[in-house]
Amino acid sequence: MNIILLGPPGAGKGTQARIIEKGRGLVQLSTGDMLRAAVAAGSEVGLKAKAVMESGGLVSDEIVIGIISDRIDEPDCASGFILDGFPRTLPQAAALEDLLASKGKSLNCVIEMRVDDDKLVERITGRYTCGACGEGYHDKFRVPKVEGVCDNCGANDFKRRADDNEETLRSRLLAYYKETSPLIGYYFAKDNLVSIDGMADMSGVTGSIEAILNDKA
Ligand code: ADP
Ligand code: AMP
Repeated sequence: MNIILLGPPGAGKGTQARIIEKGRGLVQLSTGDMLRAAVAAGSEVGLKAKAVMESGGLVSDEIVIGIISDRIDEPDCASGFILDGFPRTLPQAAALEDLLASKGKSLNCVIEMRVDDDKLVERITGRYTCGACGEGYHDKFRVPKVEGVCDNCGANDFKRRADDNEETLRSRLLAYYKETSPLIGYYFAKDNLVSIDGMADMSGVTGSIEAILNDKA
């Protein structure tokens, strides 16, 4: 099964992708995570992406299509994947369609997660992750069971993203509404879209997604 989680920054795409991948044997493909890894490694892609990401803009279609195309070819993607943060523009969506067709694959569904802007600000400004395993946390909505210790791997090294501040979030939201939200109409017209209430608590959102995936299976 191949699915897309579509939604603005802070909608809960990464959180839900990590939960679903564990339960269903799918692989989370986050272009944001891949680009941050490229920036950290100082690769050619990372050098091109760094300033754009810091400003809250979108990295070029050419770059992200290239990294997704390579990643989908890896063997762990054969049993299915969850795209998180890709596609983000109409050209990326068109390229994905061609890419999947050329590899004999297709999309099972696109799940749009709807969350109000003021809630996104609250989610983004409180977000942090485990530096060792990437598990996601939040100052209010998901704190570790033991303070300072990751529930998932026991590490005690947490980090916050430089672009998770209110000012950069404004640019990221503008990019979402201008470049990414047209994908809602694009996938609706293809009869591939299901929209859910992303304002619910984490387990409520997981329940909505599981119901959709059970229906599509
Ligand atoms: P995205 O990947 O869409 O940018 P994340 O999954 O990283 O968003 O979620 C953003 C922040 O909000 C994280 O700190 C996460 O723990 C928290 N979060 C995610 N889903 C919910 C939810 N349903 N209710 C409350 N907080 C949530
Ligand atoms: P995310 O982790 O999904 O919030 O993405 C962080 C940043 O990476 C974004 O603000 C963009 O600068 C960049 N990015 C991630 N995915 C894409 C994409 N599909 N297209 C363009 N830029 C992207």
